[in-house]
This record gives sequence, structure tokens and C-alpha cells, in this order.
Amino acid sequence: VQLDPRGSIDEENKELNFVSFRSSVAPILLCTRRTRLKKIGQQVMVGDRVVIEEPDWNGGRGAIADVLDRQTELKRPAIANANQILLVFAADDPPLEPYQLSRFLVKAESTNLNVCLCLNKSDLVTPQQQAEIYEMLDKWGYKSIFLSVYKNINIEKLSPILKNKITVIAGPSGVGKSSLINALIPDANLRVGEVSGKIARGRHTTRHVELFELPNSGLLADTPGFNQPDINCAPGQLPFYFPEAREKLKTANCRFSNCLHRDEPDCVVRGEWERYEHYLVFLEEAITRQTEL
Ligand code: GDP
Ligand code: ZN
Repeated sequence: VQLDPRGSIDEENKELNFVSFRSSVAPILLCTRRTRLKKIGQQVMVGDRVVIEEPDWNGGRGAIADVLDRQTELKRPAIANANQILLVFAADDPPLEPYQLSRFLVKAESTNLNVCLCLNKSDLVTPQQQAEIYEMLDKWGYKSIFLSVYKNINIEKLSPILKNKITVIAGPSGVGKSSLINALIPDANLRVGEVSGKIARGRHTTRHVELFELPNSGLLADTPGFNQPDINCAPGQLPFYFPEAREKLKTANCRFSNCLHRDEPDCVVRGEWERYEHYLVFLEEAITRQTEL
């Protein structure tokens, strides 16, 4: 299922009235939900697999009679059945900020989907700088892929990763996500370079999640851009969103089972992982948000 730009969302009831059905073998259908689904409160999300009754292929209309069980479900952005997250950052311009990258990584890990990390604009940094960034991210537990949409470097490495999957693209604005989607899907025709404050915000708040079909099967979900995702997970879960800590934590025997690895007595992993400083900052945030709720 794909949201249709002609379709409407009932803002008052936050109800999705129309969705269109997309497939390489069938034309797009503009669909309504059957009353039965409305009665049981069954929503339809982008990425859902649905049963369509009485499709009118010529008229381009149909009715969604059922929504198949979801393998995964993301709330923000709302998307069903995503398999992985392609996190895009730039090696430079905007400069790579470790805390910001870490924040996106933690947020991505908190979905429990696989995370694939790409650094675009590799044309702007020296091989030496690239190696340093690669090494840093390796210590964080990530094998990063350096891309350049401009110079067509390593774009082809993404094809096998994206094939037959639903992939959510995420990352701050200005790193080249739209450019990358255009490079992967020539007829996506996304506008590039709208980073100036007001325009970008306006565009992003009104835009819905869009699904693009990859030339050799697979779907890409373009998500509204945001630069500063909140850390709002359960504090106790946070350590597990650091791959470089995960193994240690599985076998760690802190005195308290709910140890947050700060100043508790007999903590055995305090300070023991690469991004421990980041962890402390995000932990404060997670605790604050939890008490605000
Ligand atoms: P988005 O906000 O993440 O969707 O980023 P855009 O695709 O709009 O790109 C932001 C800016 O980065 C634009 O001016 C692009 O032309 C530029 N850009 C995209 N890819 C590259 C690249 O590989 N190298 C360089 N140097 N600039 C790029
Ligand atoms: Zn501990």
C-alpha cells in the first residue's frame, strides 16, 4: 500500500480514507477501506499487504477488504513491514557530528530492524579522512559504506542490500538522501537541495511517507527529514542499542539486574564501551522523557 497524493487523510479523525495499491504487475488503484475494517478499527499503513476485493482495473478503483499480518510496524514514520533502515549521513557538508550520528543510530537500533550505514559525499573528504571515519564507526560496531552520488561511487553496492526488501531511508537533511533515491530510481524525480529552513520544514511536515519501487525489486520508503530524533526509549533498553556494548551486556553480571551502568555499586560494564559518553547523555534524556510522561 502506498499513500496516494490524490487521496485524502481525514485530519480530524486521523483516518486514512484513500490508499493506492502499487505493484509492478498491476496499475495503481485508489482504494477505500471496507466498512468492516473501519468497524473493527483496522487501519491501513504504508507498506501493508492487503486483500483487494472487486478491483476495477480500468476505473482504477478498489476496496481493501483485509490487511495481512504485519511483520514489523514502525510508528514514526508510520510504515508496515519494513525490513531494514538505510541510514544516510554525509562524510562532510554538513560536517559529520558524532553525537548526531550516534543519536540517529540509537534511534534506528531501537526499531530492532537491521541498520545499514552509508556516508555520502565521500568525494569531499580525503582517503585518509575516510579511513579515520571508517575506523571510528568500526569501533562503534558498524561497517560503513562510503558513497558519492556525484561521482557514482559504490551506489551499485546498495543493490544487493536493497533487493526484495522494504528499506526505510533515514538521516538528517542535506546529506543527499533525495539525490541517492534519484540515483537508485531514475523516475523518482525527487527535488534536491531544499535545505533552507522554512521551505524544508514546510515540505517535511506535510509530506507523507512515500514508497518507491526499485528497478530490480524492493521498496524504498522516503521518510520526512528530521535532524534531531528524540531518545525516548525505556532507559533500561538503551544500552542494547549500542552494538559495541551488546555482547558484553548479554553476559554482564552487574549487582543489580536493573543496573543503568552509571554509578550503581558493582557495575561491571561502566565506561566499558566506545560510546559510553554518548550513552550517558542519551540516558539522561530517556530518563527525563520517561518522567515527563
Ligand atoms: P537530502 O536533504 O538528504 O534529501 O539531500 P539532497 O539530496 O537534497 O542533497 C543536498 C545537497 O547535497 C544538494 O546540494 C546535493 O546536490 C548535494 N549532494 C548530494 N549528493 C552529493 C555527493 O555525492 N557529493 C556532493 N559533494 N554533494 C552531494
Ligand atoms: Zn551495570
